[in-house]
Amino acid sequence: MSDRPVVTRIAPSPTGYMHIGTARTALFNWLYAKHVGGKFLLRIEDTDRERSTEPAVQAIFDGLSWLGLIPDEEPVFQFSRADRHRQVVQEMLARGSAYRCYMTPDELAHERETARAEGRVIRSPWRDRDGNYDAAQPYVIRLKAATEGETLIADQVKGDVTFQNKDLDDLILLRTDGSPTYNLAVVVDDHDMGVTHVIRGDDHLNNAGRQTQIYEGMGWEVPVWAHLPMINGPDGKKLSKRHGAQAVSEFDDMGYLPEAMRNYLAKLGWGHGDAEIFGDDQAQAWFDIKDVVGAPARLDWAKLAHVNNHYIREAGIDRLVGLVTRILKSRDWPLHDGDDAILQRTIPLVRDGAKTTLELADNVVFALKRRPLELPEKALAQLTEETRGRLARLAAVYADVADWSVPNLEDVNRKFAESEGVGLGKIGPALRAVLSGGSPAPDLAGALVSLGKPESLARIDDALSPAA
Ligand code: GLU
Repeated sequence: MSDRPVVTRIAPSPTGYMHIGTARTALFNWLYAKHVGGKFLLRIEDTDRERSTEPAVQAIFDGLSWLGLIPDEEPVFQFSRADRHRQVVQEMLARGSAYRCYMTPDELAHERETARAEGRVIRSPWRDRDGNYDAAQPYVIRLKAATEGETLIADQVKGDVTFQNKDLDDLILLRTDGSPTYNLAVVVDDHDMGVTHVIRGDDHLNNAGRQTQIYEGMGWEVPVWAHLPMINGPDGKKLSKRHGAQAVSEFDDMGYLPEAMRNYLAKLGWGHGDAEIFGDDQAQAWFDIKDVVGAPARLDWAKLAHVNNHYIREAGIDRLVGLVTRILKSRDWPLHDGDDAILQRTIPLVRDGAKTTLELADNVVFALKRRPLELPEKALAQLTEETRGRLARLAAVYADVADWSVPNLEDVNRKFAESEGVGLGKIGPALRAVLSGGSPAPDLAGALVSLGKPESLARIDDALSPAA
């Protein structure tokens, strides 16, 4: 291989949402580029005018930016380069590595039949004719590819893959209407963008043979190939809707953090020993395309949840407050002045158990509720005469507590239970219900600290007052 500076790229077709497999391909391209100090580029393959849409282009931009996989240059739009694709084909004609093929549809159909009967690929009679037949006749331009020998793809992931040249027909480069074909456009763009490593899904492995022939037809250096296996669902079958999610945006909506996605996706098909949790710096230092495994990876929700929980515990509180606020707004939860401070206090107390930011949001709403709380049946059932008496005595003790902190309140609760001659289990459930209104909440001292002293006392008072 030459010593050209390493350039990788991702080349999605903007025809729908951004698939999680595309995200993983982007990640591996990004990691490899960073690993060797090269560049990571983006090309939007929008040549299919029927299927390419503006929202799908935006979904790719949004997905990459959410994942933090930022290309090192402005994106290249493939369709806008059609003139350049045509120009390269003219050069190939001049070099003798392409030719005009005037086969009529009838002739082509006939050749196809004969080829099938003879067990070979189709061959155009125009391949070996000199000069033009009749410029007014419609024609396509085909690659004049080798018909003997083999084309070797030394794939970094799949190993050596060989194509017998006799099994590859002469690829059409330009259609009758002058429009460039897909394989031509990919090769010209990769060449012009200086791409040295093509890392992409293994559904394109067959194209690598075709594309190598085009590189050779132009005398261009062939890139290093690396074809990645698919990401399957937990059952080993092709990832589909019923597995829970396919689109990058869905993972955002489900409350996964981008750094958790990067860490988890890196583990799908690649790994560094037993390392489960690692940041970008480590991944970039360790990653090598040669270490990617050839077998399909499986999405494992439990592992993703584990990794996400790690990053939720590591995240800055202000950021989590922002994320939780966004989720609450999307649920039309009425937010008030002062709720920010409540979230600041509550999130550190409830985040350890949260697998997603949606769960984190579930775990904070108890603290944001407005008094008087509606107590669910189950909570009301806890409020027997005996419990009411105890809660009233406990409230009196709380009124004198100056140090409203988790360790001190744990101490106060324990001492109170002792003084009542009962276990904490006798008051805990009722107090929790009164403080939380039956929503998920941290343990008692944590709930009291989240709410603050005045709100805690007021909620107890509400529950004990006759109206409750
Ligand atoms: N546009 C192709 C796709 O979205 C990728 C082509 C490539 O990476 O070479 O599957």
